[in-house]
Parts: sequence; structure tokens; C-alpha cells
Amino acid sequence: MTKIAFIGLGNMGGGMCANLVKAGHAVAAFDLNGEAVAAAAAKGARAAASVADAVKDADVIVSMLPAGKHVLGVYFGPDGVGAHAAKGTLLIDCSTIAVTDAREAHSQAEQAGFLMVDAPVSGGVAAAEAGTLTFMAGGTAAAYERAAPILKAMGKNIFHAGGAGNGQAAKIANNMLLGISMIGTCEAFNLAEKLGLDAETFFRISSVSSGQCWSMTSYCPAPGPVPTSPANRDYKPGFAVAMMLKDLHLAADAAKAAGADIRLGEMAEGIYQNLSERGFDGLDFSGVMKDLKGEL
Ligand code: NAD
Repeated sequence: MTKIAFIGLGNMGGGMCANLVKAGHAVAAFDLNGEAVAAAAAKGARAAASVADAVKDADVIVSMLPAGKHVLGVYFGPDGVGAHAAKGTLLIDCSTIAVTDAREAHSQAEQAGFLMVDAPVSGGVAAAEAGTLTFMAGGTAAAYERAAPILKAMGKNIFHAGGAGNGQAAKIANNMLLGISMIGTCEAFNLAEKLGLDAETFFRISSVSSGQCWSMTSYCPAPGPVPTSPANRDYKPGFAVAMMLKDLHLAADAAKAAGADIRLGEMAEGIYQNLSERGFDGLDFSGVMKDLKGEL
């Protein structure tokens, strides 16, 4: 049993916190939203009144927050974790944030005498609730070893991606590929249909041919072939356009800083930006299919 403070009990954090309780840990839960704290308490966590209250006797702090500014604020802002947690505490940030922000957090954590891993996740709300997330962690081997059993209580696949920020690097490179492959899959199904193939026929062929990819076989953007995909519920998310756009912005910023050529990544960013500007932030990211068909 480990004493854990969990900060950020939103769509993802709520389920992750509940799984830490289920695994037998003593969890103090905090969020700015009192209803989220009450929901965590109903599942066995202690309701904390502030960051200070949550972390006061924690050995490990786990966070699941919207973006880098929230993470840096919660950990190292006024009255944040840095001012209240004991030296040697392990910080595990699972939010998806910029590689540069993650590396800044690692550097401040080290200066303050904490261990840290950036451990963003792949998998959505259902995986957070089921405890089947994939974690990609960046940090020292010592920090990763301490974090691994905690991450295992919330996920199925756990990877050490290397040093500080490498978890975020793995996450945004993966999600850039996902954005590109989803748009490509939508274009292929649309082209096949225009040329006279129905979605089922094209799926049967392409899913065992060289065009096969996760966007097709697990999350098919054409209604029919994969019953669980959002295409079968009018593209309700799932993984929304706004979330994909956030990750593509992070990838574009990181690529610029690193001097990496991501021309398709930038095109994907433009396509999701356009959907967002037209008011489709809440559409599943496979809804590009609807746009190609002229249905938006
Ligand atoms: P969310 O907006 O539902 O939850 C974020 C929570 O953080 C909210 O409850 C908010 O009140 C809380 N919060 C914000 N600032 C705070 C502060 N200063 N102190 C305490 N609590 C604070 O977001 P989410 O969907 O749970 O996503 C969280 C992170 O996970 C994001 O970085 C996102 O990119 C990433 N992610 C989300 C998904 C998904 O499918 N939703 C999948 C993979 C990764």
C-alpha cells in the first residue's frame, strides 16, 4: 500500500484514481471541481481540500491535468506541490503536455529533490476506467522503477521510453501518426466507395493487405465493418477533433524546435484545425470521413 495524492479527476483522472484505490493504495484526491472530488470519494479516495492537503503525507503524486501550464502551476506554482511535498516524493505526471514543459518540470523537480516521470497515456476514457491504458514514461531508471507498480495498477502496457520528456515525445509522435493514418484511411474508403466498392468489401480486402492499419481495423471510419467504431454512432467521440488537434499542435511545436520535417503532420494539423474552426471540436476525429462525403 502506497500513500498517493491524485490531482486532476476529470474524464481520464476519475477512472485512474478509482483503479489506484481498487489496487489497495491510500489515495487522497484533489481537483478544482468539487463534484469530481466527491465522485472520487464515493469510490474510496479521501477528499482533499487543496493541493497542500492532498500531498501532505504522500509518497507518490499522480496528476492528470489539461495542459503544461496547469502541470507547472500545480507542481511548482505558488502553494503547489513543491511547497508542500516531502523531498524524495515521486511525481508522476500522466497529462499530455509539450516536451519542453515536461523537461522544465523534470528540471524543477530535480532541483527541489523530487523524483519525476512524465507518463502520458494512450487509450481513452474507457481504458482509463478499465485500467487498460498504455503508459509511455520518461525519466531516470530509478524513478521509472518506483513508478512502474503504480502505473501497472492503472494500465496494461507500460514502457520506459528513456530520459526526461521522452514519454511525451513518444506520445506526440504516436498521435501524429494516428492523425495522419486516420485521414488516409478516410480518403481510401471514400475513394473506394466513389469507384464502386462498398465499405465492407473494401475492408475485407484492405484489412489483410498492405494498407492495413489500426485506424482501419480497430476504429474504422466508415460505418459497418467495425461495430464498436464511432462511425456507427454518428461519430460521437471516442477521441474528439479538439483532442487530436491539441496533440498535432504539440507535435508541430516539437518538430519545429527539433528541426524535424513533418509535412504530412502539418497537413493533418490543418485538416483538424479547419474542422475545429467550423465548430466540429466535439466530433470524433474519424469524422473526417463525413467531411470528405460532404455531410458536414
Ligand atoms: P479533463 O478536462 O476532463 O480533466 C482535467 C481535470 O483537471 C479537470 O477535472 C479540471 O478541473 C482539473 N484541473 C485543472 N486545473 C487544475 C488545478 N490547478 N488543480 C486541480 N485540478 C485541476 O481532461 P481529460 O480528458 O481527463 O484529459 C486529461 C489529460 O489527459 C489531458 O492532458 C489530455 O490531453 C490527456 N488525454 C486525454 C484522453 C481522453 O480521451 N480524454 C486520452 C489520452 C490523453
